Amino acid sequence: MRLDAAVADAVKRLSHISDSARLDADILLCQTIDMPRSYLFAHPEDELDELALSRFEHLLQRRIDGEPMAYIIGSREFWSRELLVSPATLVPRPETELLVELALQEIPDDAQWQILDLGTGSGAIAISIAGERPLCNITATDISAEALAIARENVRHANLANVTCLQGEWTAPVAGRSFHVIVANPPYVRSGDEALALLRHEPRIALVAGEDGLDDLRILAIESIPILSTDGWLMLEHGADQQSDVASILMAASWTEIACHNDIAGNPRVTVARRSGK
Ligand code: SAM
Ligand code: GLN
Repeated sequence: MRLDAAVADAVKRLSHISDSARLDADILLCQTIDMPRSYLFAHPEDELDELALSRFEHLLQRRIDGEPMAYIIGSREFWSRELLVSPATLVPRPETELLVELALQEIPDDAQWQILDLGTGSGAIAISIAGERPLCNITATDISAEALAIARENVRHANLANVTCLQGEWTAPVAGRSFHVIVANPPYVRSGDEALALLRHEPRIALVAGEDGLDDLRILAIESIPILSTDGWLMLEHGADQQSDVASILMAASWTEIACHNDIAGNPRVTVARRSGK
């Protein structure tokens, strides 16, 4: 089969499940023949041999089954960096770049601060902050050893000496320490949320936080208190409809200067808080 015919057929089959069927088809075919995308435009008449065709079919079938492109190709771009991902890590979301942006707004260029990223997954947030603030030390934690292995790999690829990955439950690996900024994109999906069907390829432990989706946010609001330095910031990503619940949780735990920020789609997504009178 010619390359252009393979793409046309794939686009038809992907259009039901993907908003970017053409792009997906091109990328999967490029992965199959190990060529850049420009090759497809320059050599549409090239023939796919049997072996290549069956490899392409295998990748295509995974995508048709709803697997995210990031898992099929093994990486996803975040904050202009290509990060490895695996089924043990959440696929980093563009809206999470807001959390990075807000953290960078508060961390001066020449700061030598201790920063904590709780539930780092692929390391997306920690690595992005570390790259922009080379004098800061970033500690990245996760309960999942498999996710942390990917995060460590990403730290190594990014050539960053200022990120340390530690395994454990929320703040347990950093007990007794003190941080200027604590960021987290914890699980916040409700256990009964219908959207979970679409997210079935991603780890449940990265997504679900009890019946109301707030279990982990409640834990972080409490556990962050003893490890935040005076005048430090806590920055939490949450669901678009959780703004007022998160504010209540933080107020109940005596956080102050609570402010919520909108993501690129205009949804209230990250709540920032501080503590006064410590
Ligand atoms: N920070 C990454 C990102 O934004 O792409 C991943 C966020 S994902 C929504 C939440 C992460 O929290 C997952 O990597 C998961 O393994 C981790 N996690 C879940 N429960 C945890 C716990 N009890 N202690 C520490 N990490 C946990
Ligand atoms: N933003 C993710 C989604 O619903 C959820 C990630 C999370 O629970 N932190 O696609």
